[in-house]
Amino acid sequence: MLEIIRIPVLSDNYIWLVHEPESKETMVVDPAVAEPVLAEAAKRGWTITQIWNTHWHPDHTGGNAEIKAATGCRITGPEAERERIPTLDILVKQGDTARLGEVIADVIDVPAHTAGHIAFHIPSEQVAFVGDTLFAMGCGRLFEGTAEQMYDNMRKLEALPDATKIYCAHEYTKSNGEYALVAEPDNLALQQRMTEVLAMRARGEATVPTTIELERATNPFMRAASAAELGARRTAKDNF
Ligand code: ZN
Ligand code: FE
Repeated sequence: MLEIIRIPVLSDNYIWLVHEPESKETMVVDPAVAEPVLAEAAKRGWTITQIWNTHWHPDHTGGNAEIKAATGCRITGPEAERERIPTLDILVKQGDTARLGEVIADVIDVPAHTAGHIAFHIPSEQVAFVGDTLFAMGCGRLFEGTAEQMYDNMRKLEALPDATKIYCAHEYTKSNGEYALVAEPDNLALQQRMTEVLAMRARGEATVPTTIELERATNPFMRAASAAELGARRTAKDNF
């Protein structure tokens, strides 16, 4: 069983520190910065052996070089973004796997937020690291891709088992939920979830990870009936 630790950094980023106890390997997903990650690993007596990147944005890769210099870890990330992430050692794409000790992740291409964005799905743990593609009640902005691509991404992710825990890279849940209530004013599951989210945030708690089951019921981008509807909702959220 993986141990997964949430490290909140910057204004709303989550870095995930992932420890595989059999091999004692420790991996970092999308380190925006280095220092809090190195400190958290040191505190636990863990040695970082890998970084996995979902996309090139600096708030996901900014700590790569410093963590690599400090630990000698190897860095896995999207082949399609290799020129934008010069610190990568291992290039992966849809159909490839990434390995952390005894645990194997399937790489899923999810282009749209960035052109080469990938996600990592670990079936044996029912866990997925999705970067800035799927958020609690939201999806990533379409910086380098289309609504059609994001619609396809939602189909790939909603095909994962209900119980799959979704580790996204930002705490955007409250803002996403406020827009979701406008997009789907009659969705009772959404109303109930937002009540819980507001209480959690008022207590200073994180709302991530989420699950595929929760997103199927409450995420207006996953629930959009067409690419056009997803695109219209994305534009509306951008201007919300
Ligand atoms: Zn991003
Ligand atoms: Fe980001």
